[in-house]
Amino acid sequence: MQDKYGDVQVTAKKDVVGEKIFNQLNLGFQDCILVRGKLKKFAKAPNGVELIPSEVKILNKAPEKLPIDITGVTDSELDLRLDNRVLDLRNPRNQAVFQIQHVLLKSIRDYLCDQNFTEIVTPKIIGSATEGGTELFPIMYFDKEAFLSQSAQLYKEQLVSDFEKVFELGACYRAEKSRTKRHLCEIYTLDLEIAFADQHDVMNVLENLIHYCHTQIKEKCESELKSLKRWETFEVPEVPFPRYSYTEILHLLEKKANFKIPWGEDISTEAYRELEKILPSFYFIPDWPMSMKPFYIMKNQDDPKISQGFDLQKGWLELVSGGTRVHNKEVLAQQLREKKLNPASFESHLRAFDFGMPPHAGCGLGIGRWLLIITGVEDIREAIFFPRTPDRLTP
Ligand code: ATP
Ligand code: MG
Repeated sequence: MQDKYGDVQVTAKKDVVGEKIFNQLNLGFQDCILVRGKLKKFAKAPNGVELIPSEVKILNKAPEKLPIDITGVTDSELDLRLDNRVLDLRNPRNQAVFQIQHVLLKSIRDYLCDQNFTEIVTPKIIGSATEGGTELFPIMYFDKEAFLSQSAQLYKEQLVSDFEKVFELGACYRAEKSRTKRHLCEIYTLDLEIAFADQHDVMNVLENLIHYCHTQIKEKCESELKSLKRWETFEVPEVPFPRYSYTEILHLLEKKANFKIPWGEDISTEAYRELEKILPSFYFIPDWPMSMKPFYIMKNQDDPKISQGFDLQKGWLELVSGGTRVHNKEVLAQQLREKKLNPASFESHLRAFDFGMPPHAGCGLGIGRWLLIITGVEDIREAIFFPRTPDRLTP
């Protein structure tokens, strides 16, 4: 018998428990039952005890033939598993992924609250494009068009002027038809924003947050990590994380991997895979070209081609993007124009900058991707309860 706390052996000998209980216990796999009885020490049973039943109730039956194997003996195909997700999540390996997520989310909150961050909640239905991208899901809002928010960016920046240190754990939506193992259409992110701070302060918070959360998981999730065959390889990374500017990364790629990327171009997944061979753990990439960062990122004061935006990588995988934000309204309006966006469409956002907006910086981190890094699971669809992808809207 199994529940969320683990397995217990129910021992029912006919001459001890009687015929009725003995017959009742002729059960199918995954039937839902309630058993009352006496626990007895039994070293050979899981957890060292067995239960001698005095009462059995059958609460619900499961079909004799289940659509997927959840014992881990045979692998079922991922799409079939996702079609039967509720059942799939009873597989101990999948239970482990989300038990770890639970500890991770609590650890994030504990750490940030301890550092005097205030948890915020921002709207997910928005009237206009958050960052001016094209990756928005339009929705009908009564008789008007509205959108699902692609990030908490603008609202967390507004709220940082009231609460100074804020974070949000919430959903956001990306209407990208990416069919990769690291992209979803509905994602759960940690957003944080800090007043009187720059990108270096944010990098410091991030590496300490990751160190803290990994330490908590190593302490509290031993059985889960073992069930994922991750106990030996799971890493509590040393801080500080190394920092290599975008330009240094290009040099590194050319020198160590013979991989040439012209300055100003994006680093491809293939290139990141090469980088992982050189930099397998966490590392920051600051000083990206301004052309590749959004309008709200501040320019480098000495070289306006370079931004004060950074990414945090774990090997090949991008986990975080962040940076110092523009806090001056005129500069922000100018940068909107430089990105071919119309400041008039951002009027209500720009108004927040009229009332003494402090200098600030922040970042956004994908929880699903963090879970990939921790658990070693390879496909992000396994790191979310009910994935939304271009091909999947149910269950
Ligand atoms: P990528 O280049 O990997 O598509 P991005 O740079 O577009 O990501 P950001 O807008 O910087 O993503 O979002 C912040 C973080 O949110 C990312 O670093 C990543 O961890 C996560 N994230 C973004 N888009 C997705 C997605 N479609 N699916 C899963 N996680 C995502
Ligand atoms: Mg990014």
